Amino acid sequence: MEASKLEHFKQLLLAELRRHAEHVSEEQAAALDAASDDAKESADLALRDVIEEMALKLGEKESQMVADVDQALLRIEEGSYGICVRCGHPVDERRLEAMPTARYDARCQAIVEEANGEGAGPSL
Ligand SMILES: [Zn+2]
Repeated sequence: MEASKLEHFKQLLLAELRRHAEHVSEEQAAALDAASDDAKESADLALRDVIEEMALKLGEKESQMVADVDQALLRIEEGSYGICVRCGHPVDERRLEAMPTARYDARCQAIVEEANGEGAGPSL
C-alpha cells in the first residue's frame, strides 16, 4: 500500500483510539494526543505505552477494540497492513475505510465468523 494511504488509515486508527481514550479520562485523551503528535521517530513507543494504559482502564469489550487498533498500527509499521492475515490477499480499501482495524478480507471474515459461531460485534 502507498505511504500516503497508510498515513490516511493511520489517522483513522488514531481517531478511533482517541474516541476510546475519552471514555477513560481527559488526561488519557491528552496523553494520546501528545504521543501521536510527537516527533514521528520517537512517538511510537510513547504511543504504545498510552495504548496499554488505556486498555487496562477500559472494560473488556472496549479494551479489545483498543487492542485491535494497536495491532493495526503495528501492521502499518511492519508493512503488512491492508493484507488479509488469513489468505494474504489485499483487503478492499472501502472495507478498510469502514473498518480500519480489519484483519481479514470480506470472504475470510465470513469464514472466521462462521467458525466462531457468532457475529463479531456491532463495529464489524
Ligand atoms: Zn482472506
